[in-house]
Amino acid sequence: MLKKLFQSFRSPSRRTQHKRSTPEVLNSSQHSLQKAQFSRYAVNIVERLQNAGYQAYLVGGCVRDMLLNITPKDFDVATSATPEQIRAEFRNARIIGRRFKLVHIHFGREIIEVATFRANHPQDEDEDSNQSSRNESGRILRDNVYGTLEDDAQRRDFTINALYYDPVSERILDYANGVHDIRNRLVRLIGDPTQRYQEDPVRMLRAVRFAAKLDFGIEKHTVAPIRKLAPMLREIPSARLFEEVLKLFLSGYAADTFEMLVDLQLFDPLFPASFEALEHNPTYTHTLISEALINTDLRIQQNKPVTPAFLFAALLWPALPGRVLHLQARGMPPIPAMQEAAHELISEQCQRIAIPKRFTLPIREIWDMQERLPRRSGKRADLLLDNPRFRAGYDFLLLRENAGEQTEGLGEWWTDYQDANDAGRRDMIRDLGSKDDATGSGPRKRRRSTAGKRKRSAGSDE
Ligand code: ATP
Ligand code: MG
Repeated sequence: MLKKLFQSFRSPSRRTQHKRSTPEVLNSSQHSLQKAQFSRYAVNIVERLQNAGYQAYLVGGCVRDMLLNITPKDFDVATSATPEQIRAEFRNARIIGRRFKLVHIHFGREIIEVATFRANHPQDEDEDSNQSSRNESGRILRDNVYGTLEDDAQRRDFTINALYYDPVSERILDYANGVHDIRNRLVRLIGDPTQRYQEDPVRMLRAVRFAAKLDFGIEKHTVAPIRKLAPMLREIPSARLFEEVLKLFLSGYAADTFEMLVDLQLFDPLFPASFEALEHNPTYTHTLISEALINTDLRIQQNKPVTPAFLFAALLWPALPGRVLHLQARGMPPIPAMQEAAHELISEQCQRIAIPKRFTLPIREIWDMQERLPRRSGKRADLLLDNPRFRAGYDFLLLRENAGEQTEGLGEWWTDYQDANDAGRRDMIRDLGSKDDATGSGPRKRRRSTAGKRKRSAGSDE
């Protein structure tokens, strides 16, 4: 299919050709894009900007995804107009600015992001300046310089993201041989990979994200510096990493993404405690995290809601037992040790990835639930069923069992209990008899340490 789409496009012969100042121009007979496939609001914006005398194109993910027959997440427009000039053209436009001023144009629930062409900061220019836009490792701290269309293409991250589509002339401008890389299914950085990662280490995560989402390979020069530069992710503000991690794990390709992150040593700087657990107890940790991610991907495929809290609860859970045991060894009783370990683990993790309170609270609740699910006597089981976190807690219990934790059939018991009628439930509680630990301080811990012993004696991990 792709072959047919690009049959008239000649592939470049030299590797250096992925950076050029004149674009390859593909007219409408040389590519498969059709104006009608794009958001009519986005097309409208481009037309209006062009009529007002500016350059304007659809750009980035939407062009890339359309060429691959994937429905784009959103539609981005790039233009020579400044944010103020864009706002002057559209009543429904709002300037927003964090790292860079952008314009959001609102059409009901659809928002089209319009960005002014911008350039990379030339490195030399900053060297003598007190107001350097880079830090000593080359990371760009501010990048707010407007530029030409050519500059804009060169400052983008990957060749496949630097394609500009003009819906008026129906031509694609390709400055970086992105069409070639789409055809060959390759994620390739524009420019020198080491320098581009030093400018913005998040590009390492983006390489993984696009490779997983598009099922592309990462070109060998693009992948080569990643393992060495991965620790640079520690310098990225934790709030930005939170956003990036959500994109990594909530885009429907989390399981593949996780494998790639581990392989490229990018998981360690993001989740140091979980990485340690992965080293210590690889089979169990890997299974638990992968299962959680496979479930997440499935739910997204089925359009079911997913909560970041469940995801983070699973990513961090394997790091808990070691900490609990450590605190207990220092004389802390099991329940306070568990509480303290959970608290410490989450606050350490938040220094890397700023998980907001609205998610850290539910993480704690899902974990607390693990302690309460074994204690079912009297009215406890029914009270738990009524708890708004029951479902998440129960799903989490099944996840732990799937990863090999021994819970003496607790998951199955809860499955049956939910299905049973009132009389059945009364019988189930009565049958618990002395098996249930009404005081509740022990079973979870005992069971988890049994699970640990089982794993060790099976020799699977050590
Ligand atoms: P998707 O929206 O499907 O996740 P996208 O390619 O549109 O993918 P965005 O994060 O929306 O990704 O960014 C839009 C465009 O901005 C990208 O296609 C890329 O050209 C550019 N871009 C984004 N982040 C960076 C970065 N860190 N460095 C360089 N260019 C970037
Ligand atoms: Mg996008």
